[in-house]
Amino acid sequence: MTRVFKINTIVRESVKGLKPYSSARDEYVSDGSEMIFLDANENPFENGVNRYPDPQQRSLKNSLAKQKGVSESKMLLGNGSDEVLDLIFRAFCEPNQDNILTLPPTYGMYKVLAGINAIENREVLLTSEFGLDVPKILATIDEKTKLIFVCSPNNPTGNVFDRQNIQKILESFNGLVVIDEAYIDFSSEESWLNKLEEYPNLIVTQTLSKAYGMAGIRLGICYASEEIITVLNKIKPPYNVNQLTQERALERIDQKMVQNEVQNILQERALLIQALQGMNFVHKIYPTEANFVLVQVDSADQRYEQLLEQGIVVRNRSSQPLCANTLRFTVGTPEENKKLIRVLNEITSP
Ligand SMILES: *Cc1c(COP(=O)(O)O)cnc(C)c1O
Repeated sequence: MTRVFKINTIVRESVKGLKPYSSARDEYVSDGSEMIFLDANENPFENGVNRYPDPQQRSLKNSLAKQKGVSESKMLLGNGSDEVLDLIFRAFCEPNQDNILTLPPTYGMYKVLAGINAIENREVLLTSEFGLDVPKILATIDEKTKLIFVCSPNNPTGNVFDRQNIQKILESFNGLVVIDEAYIDFSSEESWLNKLEEYPNLIVTQTLSKAYGMAGIRLGICYASEEIITVLNKIKPPYNVNQLTQERALERIDQKMVQNEVQNILQERALLIQALQGMNFVHKIYPTEANFVLVQVDSADQRYEQLLEQGIVVRNRSSQPLCANTLRFTVGTPEENKKLIRVLNEITSP
């Protein structure tokens, strides 16, 4: 069932009338024939990066389109998900007027970006089982609510949210629902990518920073309707994804190596969980569909320090709501995990 959703009702006034900067590389698109480029004031001597990068990242989008089954016109690439999320704020949220909804405990950047953009951040806690509190969510939104951020699998809890609950939010909300799928490749749950046609108010974000092993190149991806992507394209910096990033991403995204590494991480995750189950200071191991495990322990601060002394850095998430005395362990290499398990056994034996 396709709902009528008028994108123009939620685009900021200043963005509606905006005419984007037109770069040299936008105005003349090469058809493959040998041309002399004297249009962009570049240094003409070749060194691999003397030319401006493709502002629309066509090769990379083409490769992603094949892999994900989503057309290029439904994609926007950014300098990490962080840039993509910031663009969504700046396109749709009127500073000091609109609000967004986040669902703690969750990824901290949504709140930071709300602050940067002078947008009120309304919070509805997850349930004690880290599920979505749909009635409370629907009671908290109003006509000034533009975005709801649903991180699934969620960071730092690791779980995926019930599909029917997400669907309910998509169907009941007149703003945009941003489903952050940074960890989707570690999950047995299906991506929301193939629901873009069905829900005109759905935005799905993914990243090359986690499963693809490319946190250092900074590449985030936003998938949404053509209407939404057109708005975001208007405000993105022209050359926001640099040449080196485009090249490295293109080399790696189709490689079998990525899948092999993900499989390895999933096996290691199972081994880590198994080992944690036998440790007496571990009170609870939360179900995970990501490449990390959230664990409630007897004393998170103490265990954190003990691990540090042994050269192992984990994330203490105890300050987050519903996360008292929790540590978040990222799954490392087999060797790293072996050491983690050995050290955990040592520090907790009397
Ligand atoms: C790590 C992470 C990201 C990735 O952000 P990038 O800017 O693409 O590196 C996005 N969302 C969540 C929830 C994350 O944990």
